[in-house]
Amino acid sequence: MIIKSINTFVLRVPLGAKTFYSSQCPFPERKSLLVRIETDNGIIGWGEGGQYGPAEPVAAAITHVLAPQLIGRNALDRLCLWEELYAATRDFGRQGSYIEALSAIDIALWDIAGKFHQCPIHQLIGASFRDHVPAYATGCYYREEDLRDVHSSLARLTEEAKAYKEAGFRTIKAKIGLLSIEEDTLRLQAIRSAIGNDIDLLVDANHAYTAASAIRMGRALESLGVKWFEEPVLPEDKEGYARLRSILDIPIAGGECEYTRWGFKDLFTHGCVDIAQPDLCVCGGISEGLRIQSIASSYNIPVIPHAWGSGIALAATLQFLACLPIQPHTANPIALQNAPMIEYDRNPNPLRDDLLREPIRLQDSCLAIPQGAGLGVEIDEAVLNSYCEVKA
Ligand code: MG
Repeated sequence: MIIKSINTFVLRVPLGAKTFYSSQCPFPERKSLLVRIETDNGIIGWGEGGQYGPAEPVAAAITHVLAPQLIGRNALDRLCLWEELYAATRDFGRQGSYIEALSAIDIALWDIAGKFHQCPIHQLIGASFRDHVPAYATGCYYREEDLRDVHSSLARLTEEAKAYKEAGFRTIKAKIGLLSIEEDTLRLQAIRSAIGNDIDLLVDANHAYTAASAIRMGRALESLGVKWFEEPVLPEDKEGYARLRSILDIPIAGGECEYTRWGFKDLFTHGCVDIAQPDLCVCGGISEGLRIQSIASSYNIPVIPHAWGSGIALAATLQFLACLPIQPHTANPIALQNAPMIEYDRNPNPLRDDLLREPIRLQDSCLAIPQGAGLGVEIDEAVLNSYCEVKA
């Protein structure tokens, strides 16, 4: 089955007044880079590459560097093709856009393989550990006005957190790191009092701190019973991660900015994280995600993938989640403790919620693993075209 054509699609949806902030930047839009690979027998596979970063360099890496090496090749040789493409870009592309491009291609090739064999990707891999995954609500981001007065944001945060609880979420992840530690502590105290102690609270700093300030924040998080502290320090600061992990009584999560098995091997050998969070559209796709899980399991580190992006990224992440064993095994798996969850961002995301013919919807605060062939989802091409800014 020969690869006949490869196209990229840069999708963009402005959010206008619904712009939100992490500690790093405002998000005035949703964007995704999709790749479409077609074979000579008419099978089409979809993939997605990248997360917050610009989509154009990922598209360029596919169009100008990787795609020419794939045309005419057997689409079912995905593992050989992964190694070949990685080797061809190793000298200049071990992280960043090239690996995001490779991630998109890998996901599309798995989609093709599943469609060829008429089964979902997780079945092709031989892993159906679960048919649905509990979702945690990622929300409680910042708005522009929060920068001027933290107190004015507390009522909104309280309402937002309560709404997640009322919607059935048992776990909520809030953003920290844009404001001072004292102001962020006020925000978290407001959220905790709104949701009570029976809801798990996670926080995500998007690498906002030095180790010293993260320890100060971590003490407040411990007193609020927070269940994980995500990306406390810079992804490069492996020593800072290890220091926090040895000092704080709170699990440290990280890895959404890491690339490939080698990036995660560094995280594990330096003792950086208690929970590994590869993003399949960043780390090298489903193939590399499985390798990362395998290395993580040798350190007894659970994998709970990061999820962002469009409905394609979500479907790929769910296929991957079906393949994650309980880590460590018990006869009674408990979400977060030894069973994975799916991250479900609650900001507006039309690329996730409108792009698929049958959107993946929350049911009883869980998402079902798609059971159709390949990724198990179909793109609504009219919606795709309406959000498509650049096609190549
Ligand atoms: Mg994060």
